[in-house]
Amino acid sequence: MAVSPRAAALADLRGKEIGDCRRCRLCETRTNIVFGAGSPEARLMFVGEGPGHDEDLQGIPFVGRAGQLLTDIIVAMKFTRDQVYIANVVKCRPPQNRTPEPDEIEACRGFLEKQIEIIAPAVIVCLGAVAVSALLGATGGITKIRGTFREFRGVPVMPTFHPAYLLRSPDKKKDVWHDMQQVMALLAGEGDRG
Ligand code: URA
Repeated sequence: MAVSPRAAALADLRGKEIGDCRRCRLCETRTNIVFGAGSPEARLMFVGEGPGHDEDLQGIPFVGRAGQLLTDIIVAMKFTRDQVYIANVVKCRPPQNRTPEPDEIEACRGFLEKQIEIIAPAVIVCLGAVAVSALLGATGGITKIRGTFREFRGVPVMPTFHPAYLLRSPDKKKDVWHDMQQVMALLAGEGDRG
């Protein structure tokens, strides 16, 4: 099968622009750059914070415990991981899974923005406070704005809790499911990608 223009653009971004990136200190401790995974033609895109231990080793986003929960959420939404696109704000694991520093986010932000531009999803789900502030700026906190659509460059953005937080606070799963139902309703009204 021929490579689609979106797949080719993503491959160029990964290979030619990011390459063996040394733009911030996270390169010193990473094993793999975790670029993103899923369909270049996805209508639904998830944005997390940054790779953890398992993701760093495998080079694939959301493959650890939080990732399993994200996979469950995706399946509950009647999608597979291959049909959506999953990316992170920073592409390299912060040591000890600490929160990425503002300069690390700045060094990497352009790559996420290009992924969004290339894929042009119908909706983005922002997982947790780091993704929310990277894409939407200061919003007063994830608890305040989750469940309400925002916008990034014309694309609807649904902020919701990060799956790692759900592992610690399972009572919040119902809130996330409420948010995902809004996302599904938006996608149902949007029609197929032509
Ligand atoms: N948490 C994230 O934010 N991203 C991953 O890829 C894995 C865990």
